[in-house]
Amino acid sequence: MFSFQDIENYQLQLTNNTTTCGDAVNYYLNKIEAEKKLNAYTNVFADEAVQQAKQLDEKRKNGEPLKRLHGVVIAIKDVLCYKDHPVTAASKILDGFKSLYTATCIQQLINEDAIIIGNCNCDEFAMGSTNENSVYGPVLNAIDNSKVPGGSSGGSAVAVQAGLCMASLGSDTGGSVRQPADFCGIIGLKPTYGRISRYGLIAYASSFDQAGIFSQSVSDVALLLEIMSGPDEFDSTAIQNNNSSNTFHFDHSASPDKKYRIAYFKEALHHPSLDKEIKDSILNLIERLRSSGHTVNEIGFDLLDYVVPAYYVLTTAEASSNLNRYDGIRFGHQTKDPIKDLTAFYKQTRTEGFGKEVQRRIMLGTFVLSSGYYDAYFTKAQQVRRLLVDKTNAIFADYDAVIMPTSPTTAFPLGDNSNDPIAMYLADIFTVFANLTGIPGISIPLFKHSNGMPFGLQIMCKKSDELTLLQLAEHLLKNKASVST
Ligand code: GLN
Repeated sequence: MFSFQDIENYQLQLTNNTTTCGDAVNYYLNKIEAEKKLNAYTNVFADEAVQQAKQLDEKRKNGEPLKRLHGVVIAIKDVLCYKDHPVTAASKILDGFKSLYTATCIQQLINEDAIIIGNCNCDEFAMGSTNENSVYGPVLNAIDNSKVPGGSSGGSAVAVQAGLCMASLGSDTGGSVRQPADFCGIIGLKPTYGRISRYGLIAYASSFDQAGIFSQSVSDVALLLEIMSGPDEFDSTAIQNNNSSNTFHFDHSASPDKKYRIAYFKEALHHPSLDKEIKDSILNLIERLRSSGHTVNEIGFDLLDYVVPAYYVLTTAEASSNLNRYDGIRFGHQTKDPIKDLTAFYKQTRTEGFGKEVQRRIMLGTFVLSSGYYDAYFTKAQQVRRLLVDKTNAIFADYDAVIMPTSPTTAFPLGDNSNDPIAMYLADIFTVFANLTGIPGISIPLFKHSNGMPFGLQIMCKKSDELTLLQLAEHLLKNKASVST
């Protein structure tokens, strides 16, 4: 019987001939079918995956050396392009559309012999925090089917949570990898802005968007990150660096006693929206970290209340521009209404094709960019972003990491917040900071609430310091029993 622990162990099983890629693919295809009600996938590439597994098993038999992701079964959020496969951003407007090219990060996985098993459900154009804004309907949290999995990468999170793939990719513009990881009890990494090429990632807000990784183990996150990192001639915002700074593998046993300098924001841990049990658990963890020799200091961060407004002004502005390409002319949904003139055609196509939340954001973004309001909203929000970056740089001159809750609450019931967009936006308070400043952030599953749901701890480090981020994450997960009780 096939069972998955982590990539290293899987590849060991393959070389020992105790399993095959065919076994793995069959196992996941059966499980995806059995867990269909979770609605985690929008498309499963079953025949192709079986075929690829066969070829890889053949390669091994012929003695070919294993590539780094040989037979690793990966699911991708339905915003990542994979040539000749459907990509819809969970929107009716991309109905019937197939990718014309493959995203750089997907190609990097394929080059290492990964098997892409399917597309995962998400909020439409990655806008949302619950996965309820999807043309395919909501995704269910596998721990409690009456609860949301978080969003916008809810399908990718549940695919890992419920064991429907080995690892998955999401995208994180304001928390869409970290928050669903938190709600589902798994690991979710948002790398530094520009760490992974955005070429082939459908744009929501280009100066915030970053592909991210869901997994059950830090070592698998590190491996996938390493493979997908690096410059890309198709994305000028991808970090230009040499290969040595893209190494995220670490031998934890080499420095088990490393003492970290950690900060947390007073305004975050004492925020009125934060669930009391989450707050107490993190304060408890802080005490334990201190008693094991780490420095953990409370620092003031008076800009916290500005992060959500700045995020929603800037991202909707970018979205209103990015989404103007969906006009129904060359691809995707087209209205069947009789066309009176071109403007009427655009209007009707976009009214039918976009869901309510996407329409709301396009209008908000258009408003903040309009001539009478530009300085009052867009320019102001840019100024806030600049202040945040300066303040963040100053903090990381003194600290290795900042810790925070990932979300103010645990996963809530489906339908609970769908009629109150502002309440929904405010719940992004702890995650948007990393996207506004471009720093890497990870949510790691450390805690369980008395309501039965898991919740995580968010760790952030300075730009490009994923190595410290992953080391600290691994350290805390390894010592989970002593830090989270
Ligand atoms: N919840 C946030 C939003 O709705 C984050 C989305 C994201 O990271 N893609 O914008």
